[in-house]
Amino acid sequence: MMQRTLAASLSLSGVGLHSGEQVELTLLPAAEDHGIVFERVDLDPPVKVPLDPFRVFDTLMSTNIDFDGVRIATAEHLMSALAGLGIDNLLVQVNSSEMPIMDGSAQVFVDAILATGIREQRQARKFIKVLKPVSVSHEDKQASLVPHDGFTVDFKIDFDHPVFADQQQRVYELSTENYINQIGYARTFGFEKDLDYLKQNNLARGGSLQNAVVLSTDGILNPEGLRQPDELLSHKVLDAVGDLYLSGHQILGHFTAVKSGHMLNNRLLQALLSEPDNFEWVSFSQDCPIEYIEAKAAQ
Ligand SMILES: [Zn+2]
Repeated sequence: MMQRTLAASLSLSGVGLHSGEQVELTLLPAAEDHGIVFERVDLDPPVKVPLDPFRVFDTLMSTNIDFDGVRIATAEHLMSALAGLGIDNLLVQVNSSEMPIMDGSAQVFVDAILATGIREQRQARKFIKVLKPVSVSHEDKQASLVPHDGFTVDFKIDFDHPVFADQQQRVYELSTENYINQIGYARTFGFEKDLDYLKQNNLARGGSLQNAVVLSTDGILNPEGLRQPDELLSHKVLDAVGDLYLSGHQILGHFTAVKSGHMLNNRLLQALLSEPDNFEWVSFSQDCPIEYIEAKAAQ
């Protein structure tokens, strides 16, 4: 399997979930081995922010990158879409410190990228193959990776709310088809009871029923309901797929999470990459263990 980028550039605009600001986003094709790089074009001069799992901060509500004081917040949903579609090289220009939330899922990013097209490049794609079990925990939360041929996610949540009655645990296998059908459509969610606290702390200022599922004490406020019965669990998986792509390279392994979130997902990725014996870089001339949507051939 070769590296991939976009066939052409594309632009989107939307609101920042926490900042409430209107944000313009442009995704531009990039050369082999460029990687996924963000660029803050609202700064003069513009500043590039390379992906770096060791520069992630403040992962309570979202996954944010801090590059010498220049920040990109809420990167996880775009990163998740890029993981699901198998994109290696991209310049992501954004005119704000926070990415636009769009509809709260990765659907808009996926649809825009598929409409624009994916181009195959001339260098082999490099995967991070897990060689040894790695795990991290915090209080009653756990996250671990063990060797596996492919990338699977076994996610368990434990929310005491009737909407989660039928969605406590699922196993997902990453492929583009599964990503689109089972993961990418799933919107972020929050609890109505937390909204005052969030707004007082300058979080979720752009949040609305247009970009999040909001849970009341015993139901949901969104009149349209859930897109799928297990949408909320699937969003936790969407987040994990994005958080674990913060190195810009797909992991090959089996990921198990119990009540994990952005912080623990990031600590797991750091733990994996901190010890060279934990993993190896691999490429595939054929039989890639993850099935991605086909790309246009290199020109
Ligand atoms: Zn999310």
